[in-house]
Amino acid sequence: MSQQHQRVRSAQLYEEAKQHIVGGVNSPSRSFKAVGGGAPVFMQRGEGAYFWDVDGNKYIDYLAAFGPIITGHAHPHVTKAIVQAATNGTLYGTATEHEIRLAEMLKKAIPSMDKVRFVNSGTEAVMTTIRVARAYTGRNKIIKFAGCYHGHSDLVLVAAGSGPSTLGIPDSAGVPASIASEVITVPFNDLDGLKQALERWGDEVAAVMVEPIVGNFGMVMPHEGYLEGLCKLSRMAGALVIYDEVICAFRFHYGSAQTFSAFPEQDAIRPDLTALGKIIGGGLPIGAYGGRAEVMEKVAPLGPAYQAGTMAGNPASVLAGIACLEVLQTPGVYEQMERQAIRLIDGLQNAADKNGVPITINRIAGAFSTHFCDHPVTNYDEAQDTDGEQFARFFRLMLDQGIYLAPSKYEAWFLTTAHTDADIDETIAAAQSAFAAI
Ligand code: PMP
Repeated sequence: MSQQHQRVRSAQLYEEAKQHIVGGVNSPSRSFKAVGGGAPVFMQRGEGAYFWDVDGNKYIDYLAAFGPIITGHAHPHVTKAIVQAATNGTLYGTATEHEIRLAEMLKKAIPSMDKVRFVNSGTEAVMTTIRVARAYTGRNKIIKFAGCYHGHSDLVLVAAGSGPSTLGIPDSAGVPASIASEVITVPFNDLDGLKQALERWGDEVAAVMVEPIVGNFGMVMPHEGYLEGLCKLSRMAGALVIYDEVICAFRFHYGSAQTFSAFPEQDAIRPDLTALGKIIGGGLPIGAYGGRAEVMEKVAPLGPAYQAGTMAGNPASVLAGIACLEVLQTPGVYEQMERQAIRLIDGLQNAADKNGVPITINRIAGAFSTHFCDHPVTNYDEAQDTDGEQFARFFRLMLDQGIYLAPSKYEAWFLTTAHTDADIDETIAAAQSAFAAI
């Protein structure tokens, strides 16, 4: 087992970073504020399931960059695609054939997407689906679910889950009350709550926005029949259904939550629009949205809803995305990630039990969340009602043994195609001593 890590250079860089970059980080979810504060780790290099920090410490990576790095760092097939893109010039401001090929791959895997548009981030994808739904329905309000994070555009920063919740700001400053008043928040996994909201505001609601499998207050499955009910109630009210699959798509299988075998009634859970990001860019910036042709035809240049992007569909992101999806088409990769996740959570649960630490683990295929509590976690309230201080101590103890987790009790652990049995064994051994110490 590795020694307690020294992170002297990270601490120096953090002091320097704070002088130039707000909070020293370019995304608040990278800060260590919720796990005891101090310097976050500055990484230098990644390969496969590992990365190394600026002090030379090696970590087994379960962050996977908050999801995208599903094939591990610097996968040779993805790297080759990025080099090819760089060699040929990174941006033309014109159409390219590669964009068609990636769009075809997405449509094939996610059949509810008749038409696709590429953007640069999950935030942009979600933001635009809302605009398109408003343009299509002529209505303004949206319904979202408490604790679900959908990026940082104004409308969805109400009761916004993971990042904001971690820092205690679920409702962001700077979002005008007039905008927040267009958002209705209801609890996840509670059809009655949704029904009541739709009864009250139904004819004003443009869309119901949901992560079909939640990834932002831990990993949370919808109850049986929940998505069917959600789609049915939304349709009856004349509202569109938008799935935010920024985390879900290509995470659990080659496809998205809406085509996952856990949901056999796929026609009954088909959304009108879907937002994508993360994995589909193979580690480079990307987002995409798509859906029913009739709805997507509202988008410029065909329709009156405007959305554009200088970098949208850029060759590097698109080629990296295609390469990443090609790796994910390799037979057995998802089964392997799931097998590793099962071994790992068995080990974590045993270690926690042995040391009398109550823990709830929610696993979906090769991803899972650990909640320091003795009750199930099926909605945001239950995810909040967990021991953040215990998580923070666990996080630090794992970090010092070279195991990198997301610095938030709300974020998931992600397996990649690169994690080996030895990595899992090392992680379980580290968890045993971490649970013993807390
Ligand atoms: N939707 C979901 C479900 C997400 O998890 C995230 C990011 N964690 C986003 C949207 C926003 O994506 P991005 O950070 O690429 O803007």
